[in-house]
Amino acid sequence: MQDDAKRGFAAELGIQRFDTESIVQRLKYLPHAERKVFEIRLRTLSGPLSPSAAERLAYDLMSWEDLKALDPTLISIGGHSCNHEILTRLDPEHLEREVAECKSRLEREIDAPVTQFCYPDGAYNAQVAECVGRHFELAVTTEKHCVPRNPSPLQLPRIATAETLADLAWRVHWPNG
Ligand SMILES: [Zn+2]
Repeated sequence: MQDDAKRGFAAELGIQRFDTESIVQRLKYLPHAERKVFEIRLRTLSGPLSPSAAERLAYDLMSWEDLKALDPTLISIGGHSCNHEILTRLDPEHLEREVAECKSRLEREIDAPVTQFCYPDGAYNAQVAECVGRHFELAVTTEKHCVPRNPSPLQLPRIATAETLADLAWRVHWPNG
């Protein structure tokens, strides 16, 4: 997408900055219905997309079959809400739906218990943690450090995945870097 188009799209979103990260961050914080409208608008502005096989491999989402094929002794599948809503902005009923339906859908699709959750955008408060705690055993935040002694199971820090072993070693050694 050309800069002019990105600048125009950012203006439609009501933001000055038009780098991809700023646009994504703004989209994340829109209510779901509004976000869907802007997603369609973005697709229109972007024009036809024909990703290469390598791009598909790198960026496509995993299918339910892909998820089911993972070795559960190595990989845990966790919840992250149904629509990536920012949970702290939802009314209690909507919050319950996003959390509970995410768990039940995942469990139905992968046919295994799902006990872990990650707060979208790391956003949580006492009400969100209480709701998540009724459906999941633990939840991770976006705080980047090692797990402390006696951690709160619903406020676990984490170190994000890395593409290489060296990068992972660096993150573990210097997680805030
Ligand atoms: Zn996310």
